Amino acid sequence: MKLTQDRMDWMRAHEEAFRSLRRDLHENPELGFQELRTSGLVARQLESWGYQVERGIGGTGLVAQMRLGSSPRRLGLRAEMDALPIVELSGLAHASRKSGVMHACGHDGHTTMLLYAAQCIAREKSFDGTLNLIFQPAEEGLAGARRMMEEGLFERYPCDAIFAMHNLPGLAQGQLHLRSGPCMASGDTVTIKLQGRGGHGAMPHLSADPTVAAANVILALQTVVSRNVDPLQAVVVSVGVMKAGHVRNVIPDSAELVLTVRVLDPSIRGMVEQRIIDLVRAQAQSYGVQAEIDYARGYPVLVNDEQATQFAHQVACDLLPADQVVFPCVPTLASEDFAFMLEKVPGCYLFIGNGTGEQGGCSVHNPHYDFNDRNLPVGAAYWVRLVDSFLSPQS
Ligand SMILES: [Zn+2]
Ligand SMILES: [Zn+2]
Repeated sequence: MKLTQDRMDWMRAHEEAFRSLRRDLHENPELGFQELRTSGLVARQLESWGYQVERGIGGTGLVAQMRLGSSPRRLGLRAEMDALPIVELSGLAHASRKSGVMHACGHDGHTTMLLYAAQCIAREKSFDGTLNLIFQPAEEGLAGARRMMEEGLFERYPCDAIFAMHNLPGLAQGQLHLRSGPCMASGDTVTIKLQGRGGHGAMPHLSADPTVAAANVILALQTVVSRNVDPLQAVVVSVGVMKAGHVRNVIPDSAELVLTVRVLDPSIRGMVEQRIIDLVRAQAQSYGVQAEIDYARGYPVLVNDEQATQFAHQVACDLLPADQVVFPCVPTLASEDFAFMLEKVPGCYLFIGNGTGEQGGCSVHNPHYDFNDRNLPVGAAYWVRLVDSFLSPQS
């Protein structure tokens, strides 16, 4: 990393403390909107370093602000604090002490990287403008980002640009990957109930079998991606839940399917939705069963602003050797609620490689996953450098 000697010395001297903090957060994970211990700890640290902290935005979310100099420029950096309902099986010394709750997405690491940067920035006090550090709750499915926004996040803490970073296992440790435009998919959930008429398995002609209808719905859904979507577009329709029946010789009354639907181009989200609804209704009708469809739109497509991404890329190139920066990287069809913030404020969401193989390659949301602590100084140095550039006293 290209850092001044003074900053390098400070980073090295504090690395162990932040590794301990990250492991402490890992041992004490909290689910979305329940991050009381975590947000309390984060808030106290930031206050002790001189930040103005407002707690309780979006439940357990908080914003820490520091204003220096006279520049009108305002920057937002965001980290998320929640864990997942997973039983940890890593066997690590710092494994979760809370059964059934685990930091399996590395949000413990993201929170720590931003704190590490925050202390360094507060010590140097060399920027000009307003820095807003956003610690959000409930990224995992509960849209904590949206809740903070509904409670006036950007009206109370306006930002000219916002940035966030997520680790990605399978990429070389410490590499930064960025792209502008659509980078992560929308994530919608469709719950389909097929209501038929149950009966004796030996007398199918007297019933309306929802299992046959469900099987055909699943097959018909495969044609949305293959026949309705431009082959150059990325769309996923996956059936994750299929429930019907209990006994071999009974035709059940109803069947249920639950789908995840993802697109990378916001302009075709509506078409995909309509196609799924039409197919399910037509299939149900042809098998004589009723279809009830609940189509719930989840996180939007995450779109990185072109200018903000170019800026974030330049910061990466200033900090790291060329082979440690991948631009443009490939998008992913995972989804992320920072997308709500990017609908309101231009910015960039980037990835940091968590490592490969035994060293950080285990996928997020897996019970064996762990955040790679070697990324703490890399992520922190990146944020510090980004603040230097965005809130530079010369700009
Ligand atoms: Zn996750
Ligand atoms: Zn995550």
